[in-house]
Amino acid sequence: MLKNKTALVTGSTSGIGLGIAKALARQGANIVLNGFGDAEGPQAEIRALGVNVAYHGADMSQASEIEAMMAFAAERFGQVDILVNNAGIQHVSRIENFPTERWDAIIAINLTSAFHTTRLALPAMRAANWGRIINVASVHGLVASAEKSAYVAAKHGIVGLTKVTALENATTGVTCNAICPGWVLTPLVQKQVDAKAAALGVSNEDAKKALLGEKEPSMQFTTPDELGELAVFFCSAAANNVRGVAWNMDGGWVAQ
Ligand code: NAD
Repeated sequence: MLKNKTALVTGSTSGIGLGIAKALARQGANIVLNGFGDAEGPQAEIRALGVNVAYHGADMSQASEIEAMMAFAAERFGQVDILVNNAGIQHVSRIENFPTERWDAIIAINLTSAFHTTRLALPAMRAANWGRIINVASVHGLVASAEKSAYVAAKHGIVGLTKVTALENATTGVTCNAICPGWVLTPLVQKQVDAKAAALGVSNEDAKKALLGEKEPSMQFTTPDELGELAVFFCSAAANNVRGVAWNMDGGWVAQ
C-alpha cells in the first residue's frame, strides 16, 4: 500500500516509534529512523522487511539539527511523504519542584520539534498533493494526571497543532491526525514501573498491575504493533477524509 512512499519517524530507535516504523515498512514504505542509542539494530530490523532505510541522529530539541535531518531525508529519498512526530520524554514531579530545565526539554522535544518537522515537510507534501502527518500525542493530550505538568501541556499542545495542521491543509491530499495511547510498556514507562515498585516495595509485575489499575480499565498495555496498525490506517485511502482527530487507543482510559 505504501510502496514508493517515504516515512520519517522521529524517536524511532525504540518503543512506539520503532513499532510504527516497522508497520509502515511492512506496507512497503522506505523509512528514515531517528533517535538516540543503538541505531544499527533497528535499521537491520527495518531492512529485513525489504525496504530502504536511513538513519539521522538529530536531537529533536535543536531546530538546526531538525533542519539538517529533513534536508538529509529529502536528499536520500526525494521527499518525506509520511511524517510521524513521535520523539518524546517524560519527567514526573509536582509543579513546585519541577526542574525548569526538564520543563524546557519536554516542551522542545514533545511539542516544538513537531512544529519544525511539520513546517519543513509541508511544502513538498502540498506540491505532491499527498501527505500524512501523524502526531503521537497521548491520553495526556486529552486528560491530565498529577505530577506531569510539562508532559500534559506539551501533549495538549500537540493535539492543538494537529487540528491547525489539518485545517490549513483540509482542501488538499495532506492530512494530519494524532494518536493518543494509554499505557504502552516501553523504556519510557518501565521507568515509571520501576519508581512505583520502589515506592510501594512490590515486584515489577505488581507495580505494572498497580499502574494499569489506576487508569486503564482493560488492565492491558497497548502494544507498539497495535499503534503501528492505526498509523497504517491513517495512511490508507480509507482515511483520506479523516482530518484533525485525536484517536485514543487506551483500554478505556478516557472513557471514564
Ligand atoms: P521510548 O523512550 O521507548 O522512545 C522514545 C524515543 O525518542 C527513543 O527512540 C529516543 O531515543 C527518542 N528521543 C528521546 N529524546 C530525543 C531527542 N532529544 N531527539 C531525538 N530523539 C529522542 O518512549 P515511547 O514510550 O516509545 O514514547 C514514544 C512517544 O509515545 C512519546 O512521544 C511518548 O510521549 C508517547 N507516548 C508513550 C506512551 C507510553 O505509555 N509509553 C503513552 C502515550 C504516549
